Amino acid sequence: MTSLPLISVDPDARGRKPAMPPRHLADLDLPGRQALVTELGEPAFRAKQVSNHYFGRLVREPERMTDLPAATRERLAGTLLPTLLTPVRELACDDGATRKALWRLHDGSLVESVLMGYPDRVTVCISSQAGCGMACPFCATGQAGLTRNLSTAEIVDQAVYLAGVAASGAVAGSPPRLSHVVFMGMGEPLANYARVVAAIRRLVAPAPEGLGLSQRHITVSTVGLVPAIRRLASEDLSVTLALSLHAPDDELRDELVPVNQRWKVSEVLDAAWDYAATTGRRVSIEYAMIKDVNDQPWRADLLGRLLAGKLAHVNLIPLNPTPGSRWDASPKPVEREFVRRLRDAGVSTTVRDTRGREIDGACGQLAAAEDTDSDSRAATA
Ligand code: SAH
Repeated sequence: MTSLPLISVDPDARGRKPAMPPRHLADLDLPGRQALVTELGEPAFRAKQVSNHYFGRLVREPERMTDLPAATRERLAGTLLPTLLTPVRELACDDGATRKALWRLHDGSLVESVLMGYPDRVTVCISSQAGCGMACPFCATGQAGLTRNLSTAEIVDQAVYLAGVAASGAVAGSPPRLSHVVFMGMGEPLANYARVVAAIRRLVAPAPEGLGLSQRHITVSTVGLVPAIRRLASEDLSVTLALSLHAPDDELRDELVPVNQRWKVSEVLDAAWDYAATTGRRVSIEYAMIKDVNDQPWRADLLGRLLAGKLAHVNLIPLNPTPGSRWDASPKPVEREFVRRLRDAGVSTTVRDTRGREIDGACGQLAAAEDTDSDSRAATA
């Protein structure tokens, strides 16, 4: 039996202190920013001005903040907006509609985000941790283990930065305004619970406190940390929950998603249905199609029985094989049969498009995300 991932161990508590980044405006709510600005000896309203530059105008350079007195601009912006993400590489594909960013954090950790443009919306896929402790064997991030949690502002800044890229018109054929955020980059968002929830609050707060996105346009994807799913349901947020199921039976899920050894399929689905009932949001069930591993007709039928009649939508993700992996994506006819059986069971199902594959294999684990509500652009197999 594979060993349990260290799910309950926060890296902060392991004795070696992770190097968290400097505090940033996006770590704080507006009253927190006002208190900080007052401590600096500036009038409280400056907090709103700087917030408006960062969240409202997507501006972070002090010299462009011309409504601030020249003498304090550098100091204010330097204190409230320390550099958190340094772009290492930006890659584009799909005729510029997909852009992947690789960032270096202040301690040298690397994380990735992806910007995806569609005719009607713009989505960013962001990371919540440097590395990941969940150890799913088909996922590239899972192989390296967890380095540390990202701070709230490191999470938010990925979205704000790429919202600025979108606003510059860089995503051809898409609206200029970022509309959707998915937590499907590196890391397990619910293992960094407090910072992820604070980040969501910044993303949905209206400008100048936050980015002003709709809660319904934010998706949190999880391996299925049951207590955290229940806690998320109790927040006054109704974000979309995506559950990385990948197998309908415990025997296989124990291997593919090792946290299943702790919370079984039936428990995690119960938590998902309670989440759907509390929030009114349809749960997205993520299922990577892995050739001869989880793609058998009987598993489609079993999955169909588990999901029939529930507030759920299945997103099949063609496996993006990681380097050196023993696994491959299911052949298309097998995928089509899997879809057919799920639909016959009355379960709404789509196959996710494979945005960004050519810019890096890792784009699969940074899963080019499909909005669960939009069946139109997904290949319907
Ligand atoms: N830790 C979270 C979010 C990150 S991954 C989670 O597990 O849900 C986002 C999605 O991509 C998850 O469903 C994950 O299982 C899937 N994924 C990871 N590696 C993949 C790969 N190589 N091919 C296809 N999907 C993958």
